Amino acid sequence: MKRLFAGLLLAGVLILAVAYLAAEEDPARAPAAAPKADAGENAAVREAANGADAGGKETAPEAPAAEEKKSAAGGERSSPFLFLVNRNHPVAEDYDPDIITVPGRNVRGERTAAEALRDMLAAGEKEGLRFVVCSGYRTRDEQRKLYLSQIQRRLDAGMTQTEAVEEAGRVSAQPGTSEHETGLAFDIVALSYQNLDDGYALTAEAKWLRAHAAEYGFVLRYPAGKSDATGMDYEPWHFRYVGKEAAEEIEGAGLTLEEYLGNEAAVSLSQEDTQK
Ligand SMILES: [Zn+2]
Repeated sequence: MKRLFAGLLLAGVLILAVAYLAAEEDPARAPAAAPKADAGENAAVREAANGADAGGKETAPEAPAAEEKKSAAGGERSSPFLFLVNRNHPVAEDYDPDIITVPGRNVRGERTAAEALRDMLAAGEKEGLRFVVCSGYRTRDEQRKLYLSQIQRRLDAGMTQTEAVEEAGRVSAQPGTSEHETGLAFDIVALSYQNLDDGYALTAEAKWLRAHAAEYGFVLRYPAGKSDATGMDYEPWHFRYVGKEAAEEIEGAGLTLEEYLGNEAAVSLSQEDTQK
Protein backbone atom coordinates (compact mmCIF):
# COMPACT_ATOMS: atom_id res chain seq x y z
CA MET A 1 0.00 0.00 0.00
CA LYS A 2 2.85 2.32 0.97
CA ARG A 3 4.61 1.46 -2.24
CA LEU A 4 1.48 2.10 -4.26
CA PHE A 5 1.07 5.48 -2.60
CA ALA A 6 4.71 6.36 -3.24
CA GLY A 7 4.24 5.33 -6.87
CA LEU A 8 1.17 7.50 -7.26
CA LEU A 9 2.94 10.40 -5.58
CA LEU A 10 5.94 10.01 -7.86
CA ALA A 11 3.69 9.82 -10.91
CA GLY A 12 1.98 13.02 -9.83
CA VAL A 13 5.28 14.76 -9.30
CA LEU A 14 6.54 13.61 -12.69
CA ILE A 15 3.42 14.92 -14.40
CA LEU A 16 3.89 18.28 -12.71
CA ALA A 17 7.58 18.27 -13.60
CA VAL A 18 6.83 17.44 -17.24
CA ALA A 19 4.21 20.20 -17.33
CA TYR A 20 6.83 22.56 -15.95
CA LEU A 21 9.38 21.45 -18.54
CA ALA A 22 6.90 21.98 -21.33
CA ALA A 23 6.06 25.43 -20.02
CA GLU A 24 9.73 26.38 -19.72
CA GLU A 25 10.72 24.88 -23.08
CA ASP A 26 14.06 24.07 -21.57
CA PRO A 27 15.06 20.48 -22.30
CA ALA A 28 18.21 20.79 -20.18
CA ARG A 29 16.22 20.75 -16.96
CA ALA A 30 15.99 17.45 -15.18
CA PRO A 31 12.85 16.71 -13.17
CA ALA A 32 13.38 16.03 -9.51
CA ALA A 33 11.55 13.40 -7.60
CA ALA A 34 9.81 14.10 -4.32
CA PRO A 35 11.76 13.51 -1.15
CA LYS A 36 10.32 10.61 0.80
CA ALA A 37 10.81 9.06 4.16
CA ASP A 38 14.07 7.22 4.62
CA ALA A 39 13.84 6.14 8.21
CA GLY A 40 15.88 2.98 7.74
CA GLU A 41 18.93 4.81 6.51
CA ASN A 42 18.74 7.48 9.17
CA ALA A 43 18.10 4.97 11.89
CA ALA A 44 21.08 2.91 10.81
CA VAL A 45 23.35 5.92 10.94
CA ARG A 46 21.92 7.14 14.22
CA GLU A 47 22.54 3.71 15.61
CA ALA A 48 26.11 3.74 14.35
CA ALA A 49 26.53 7.23 15.72
CA ASN A 50 25.17 6.89 19.21
CA GLY A 51 24.19 3.29 19.66
CA ALA A 52 20.80 4.18 21.04
CA ASP A 53 17.23 5.00 20.20
CA ALA A 54 17.53 3.87 16.62
CA GLY A 55 14.59 1.55 16.31
CA GLY A 56 11.10 2.32 15.21
CA LYS A 57 11.54 6.01 14.64
CA GLU A 58 9.74 7.20 11.55
CA THR A 59 10.59 10.32 9.71
CA ALA A 60 7.55 12.55 9.29
CA PRO A 61 5.62 12.05 6.07
CA GLU A 62 7.06 14.23 3.36
CA ALA A 63 5.29 17.01 1.57
CA PRO A 64 5.22 16.45 -2.18
CA ALA A 65 8.29 18.18 -3.52
CA ALA A 66 7.76 19.66 -6.94
CA GLU A 67 4.08 20.17 -6.32
CA GLU A 68 2.75 23.66 -6.69
CA LYS A 69 3.44 25.67 -3.60
CA LYS A 70 1.86 28.86 -2.44
CA SER A 71 4.79 31.20 -2.37
CA ALA A 72 5.38 33.86 0.26
CA ALA A 73 4.25 36.40 -2.31
CA GLY A 74 0.96 34.53 -2.63
CA GLY A 75 1.43 33.22 -6.16
CA GLU A 76 1.40 29.58 -7.23
CA ARG A 77 4.86 28.24 -7.98
CA SER A 78 6.00 25.05 -9.60
CA SER A 79 9.64 24.10 -10.10
CA PRO A 80 11.50 20.80 -10.15
CA PHE A 81 14.17 22.47 -8.00
CA LEU A 82 11.84 23.78 -5.33
CA PHE A 83 11.87 21.01 -2.75
CA LEU A 84 13.14 20.70 0.76
CA VAL A 85 16.03 18.55 1.88
CA ASN A 86 16.87 18.73 5.57
CA ARG A 87 17.11 16.34 8.51
CA ASN A 88 13.40 15.57 8.28
CA HIS A 89 13.17 15.63 4.51
CA PRO A 90 15.62 13.09 3.09
CA VAL A 91 16.60 12.90 -0.53
CA ALA A 92 14.34 10.44 -2.36
CA GLU A 93 15.92 6.99 -2.88
CA ASP A 94 15.10 7.19 -6.57
CA TYR A 95 16.25 10.77 -7.03
CA ASP A 96 18.46 10.55 -10.08
CA PRO A 97 19.89 13.94 -11.04
CA ASP A 98 21.81 14.61 -14.24
CA ILE A 99 25.22 15.17 -12.65
CA ILE A 100 27.97 16.90 -14.59
CA THR A 101 31.35 18.37 -13.71
CA VAL A 102 30.88 22.10 -13.20
CA PRO A 103 32.58 23.71 -16.21
CA GLY A 104 36.05 24.90 -15.22
CA ARG A 105 35.69 23.70 -11.62
CA ASN A 106 36.76 20.65 -9.72
CA VAL A 107 33.31 19.73 -8.41
CA ARG A 108 30.16 18.08 -9.72
CA GLY A 109 26.60 19.35 -9.74
CA GLU A 110 23.16 18.88 -11.27
CA ARG A 111 23.32 20.15 -14.85
CA THR A 112 21.03 23.20 -14.61
CA ALA A 113 22.46 24.25 -11.24
CA ALA A 114 26.02 23.67 -12.44
CA GLU A 115 25.48 25.87 -15.48
CA ALA A 116 23.90 28.60 -13.37
CA LEU A 117 26.88 28.36 -11.00
CA ARG A 118 29.28 28.72 -13.92
CA ASP A 119 27.47 31.86 -15.11
CA MET A 120 27.32 33.36 -11.62
CA LEU A 121 30.99 32.86 -10.86
CA ALA A 122 32.01 34.13 -14.32
CA ALA A 123 30.06 37.34 -13.66
CA GLY A 124 31.79 37.85 -10.29
CA GLU A 125 35.22 37.03 -11.69
CA LYS A 126 34.70 39.66 -14.38
CA GLU A 127 34.67 42.12 -11.49
CA GLY A 128 38.01 40.86 -10.23
CA LEU A 129 36.76 38.39 -7.62
CA ARG A 130 38.26 34.91 -7.27
CA PHE A 131 36.05 32.05 -6.13
CA VAL A 132 36.83 28.51 -5.05
CA VAL A 133 34.00 25.98 -5.12
CA CYS A 134 35.10 23.63 -2.36
CA SER A 135 32.10 21.30 -2.39
CA GLY A 136 29.37 20.28 -4.80
CA TYR A 137 27.57 17.02 -5.41
CA ARG A 138 28.27 14.19 -2.96
CA THR A 139 27.09 10.62 -3.11
CA ARG A 140 25.40 9.25 -0.02
CA ASP A 141 28.54 7.28 0.82
CA GLU A 142 30.66 10.41 0.62
CA GLN A 143 28.19 12.20 2.89
CA ARG A 144 28.27 9.28 5.34
CA LYS A 145 32.06 9.41 5.60
CA LEU A 146 32.00 13.17 6.12
CA TYR A 147 29.31 12.99 8.79
CA LEU A 148 30.98 10.19 10.73
CA SER A 149 34.33 11.99 10.56
CA GLN A 150 32.71 15.10 12.08
CA ILE A 151 31.45 12.99 14.98
CA GLN A 152 34.79 11.24 15.39
CA ARG A 153 36.66 14.54 15.45
CA ARG A 154 34.47 15.67 18.38
CA LEU A 155 34.85 12.36 20.22
CA ASP A 156 38.61 12.69 19.84
CA ALA A 157 38.35 16.16 21.37
CA GLY A 158 36.76 14.67 24.47
CA MET A 159 33.04 15.16 23.92
CA THR A 160 30.55 12.56 25.01
CA GLN A 161 28.79 10.53 22.33
CA THR A 162 25.62 12.59 22.75
CA GLU A 163 27.47 15.90 22.58
CA ALA A 164 29.48 14.80 19.55
CA VAL A 165 26.39 13.70 17.62
CA GLU A 166 24.51 16.87 18.54
CA GLU A 167 27.37 19.21 17.61
CA ALA A 168 28.28 17.37 14.41
CA GLY A 169 24.64 17.49 13.33
CA ARG A 170 24.70 21.27 13.34
CA VAL A 171 27.48 21.47 10.77
CA SER A 172 27.10 18.25 8.81
CA ALA A 173 23.91 16.55 7.68
CA GLN A 174 23.19 12.88 8.24
CA PRO A 175 23.68 10.80 5.10
CA GLY A 176 20.52 10.94 3.05
CA THR A 177 19.63 14.41 4.30
CA SER A 178 22.36 16.63 2.84
CA GLU A 179 21.55 19.10 0.09
CA HIS A 180 24.90 18.17 -1.44
CA GLU A 181 23.34 14.81 -2.36
CA THR A 182 20.92 16.65 -4.66
CA GLY A 183 23.63 18.25 -6.80
CA LEU A 184 21.88 21.59 -6.23
CA ALA A 185 24.12 22.87 -3.40
CA PHE A 186 27.62 24.32 -3.59
CA ASP A 187 30.04 25.60 -0.98
CA ILE A 188 31.76 28.67 -2.40
CA VAL A 189 34.65 30.52 -0.75
CA ALA A 190 37.24 33.08 -1.83
CA LEU A 191 40.65 32.15 -3.21
CA SER A 192 42.05 34.50 -0.55
CA TYR A 193 39.93 33.06 2.31
CA GLN A 194 39.10 29.38 2.25
CA ASN A 195 38.18 28.74 5.89
CA LEU A 196 34.61 27.61 6.44
CA ASP A 197 33.90 30.08 9.23
CA ASP A 198 32.03 33.33 9.82
CA GLY A 199 35.07 35.39 8.79
CA TYR A 200 34.47 34.39 5.19
CA ALA A 201 31.29 36.51 5.19
CA LEU A 202 33.46 39.64 5.34
CA THR A 203 35.24 38.93 2.05
CA ALA A 204 34.37 40.78 -1.16
CA GLU A 205 33.49 37.41 -2.73
CA ALA A 206 30.95 36.54 -0.02
CA LYS A 207 29.38 39.99 -0.19
CA TRP A 208 29.09 39.84 -3.97
CA LEU A 209 27.46 36.41 -3.83
CA ARG A 210 25.04 37.57 -1.15
CA ALA A 211 24.00 40.46 -3.41
CA HIS A 212 23.83 38.58 -6.72
CA ALA A 213 23.15 34.88 -6.08
CA ALA A 214 19.38 35.19 -6.48
CA GLU A 215 19.83 36.61 -9.98
CA TYR A 216 21.28 33.22 -10.91
CA GLY A 217 18.71 31.15 -9.01
CA PHE A 218 20.68 30.55 -5.81
CA VAL A 219 19.82 31.29 -2.18
CA LEU A 220 22.10 31.41 0.83
CA ARG A 221 20.61 28.35 2.45
CA TYR A 222 21.63 28.76 6.10
CA PRO A 223 21.53 32.50 6.85
CA ALA A 224 22.65 34.09 10.14
CA GLY A 225 20.02 34.04 12.86
CA LYS A 226 17.91 31.38 11.13
CA SER A 227 19.16 28.22 12.83
CA ASP A 228 15.76 27.63 14.43
CA ALA A 229 14.20 27.34 10.99
CA THR A 230 16.98 25.48 9.19
CA GLY A 231 18.41 23.36 12.01
CA MET A 232 21.88 24.31 10.79
CA ASP A 233 24.45 26.88 11.89
CA TYR A 234 25.07 29.97 9.78
CA GLU A 235 26.99 29.01 6.64
CA PRO A 236 27.92 32.05 4.55
CA TRP A 237 29.40 29.71 1.89
CA HIS A 238 26.55 27.24 1.22
CA PHE A 239 24.35 28.15 -1.75
CA ARG A 240 21.39 26.14 -3.00
CA TYR A 241 19.90 26.32 -6.47
CA VAL A 242 16.10 26.77 -6.45
CA GLY A 243 15.57 28.64 -9.75
CA LYS A 244 15.64 32.37 -10.37
CA GLU A 245 12.02 33.22 -9.64
CA ALA A 246 11.91 31.42 -6.28
CA ALA A 247 15.37 32.66 -5.31
CA GLU A 248 14.38 36.28 -5.83
CA GLU A 249 11.20 35.81 -3.79
CA ILE A 250 12.99 34.01 -0.98
CA GLU A 251 15.83 36.53 -0.77
CA GLY A 252 13.47 39.47 -1.23
CA ALA A 253 11.33 38.34 1.69
CA GLY A 254 14.32 37.36 3.87
CA LEU A 255 13.08 33.80 4.26
CA THR A 256 14.69 30.38 4.54
CA LEU A 257 13.57 27.59 2.25
CA GLU A 258 11.81 25.97 5.23
CA GLU A 259 9.83 29.16 5.85
CA TYR A 260 9.10 29.63 2.15
CA LEU A 261 7.79 26.10 1.74
CA GLY A 262 6.03 26.20 5.10
CA ASN A 263 7.79 23.27 6.77
CA GLU A 264 9.71 24.89 9.58
CA ALA A 265 8.08 22.78 12.28
CA ALA A 266 9.70 19.67 10.89
CA VAL A 267 13.19 20.78 11.84
CA SER A 268 12.54 21.67 15.49
CA LEU A 269 10.97 18.28 16.10
CA SER A 270 13.99 16.57 14.69
CA GLN A 271 16.42 18.56 16.80
CA GLU A 272 14.78 17.21 19.93
CA ASP A 273 15.11 13.81 18.41
CA THR A 274 18.86 14.21 18.04
CA GLN A 275 19.26 15.31 21.64
CA LYS A 276 17.72 12.12 23.02
ZN1 LIG B 1 27.48 22.92 1.94
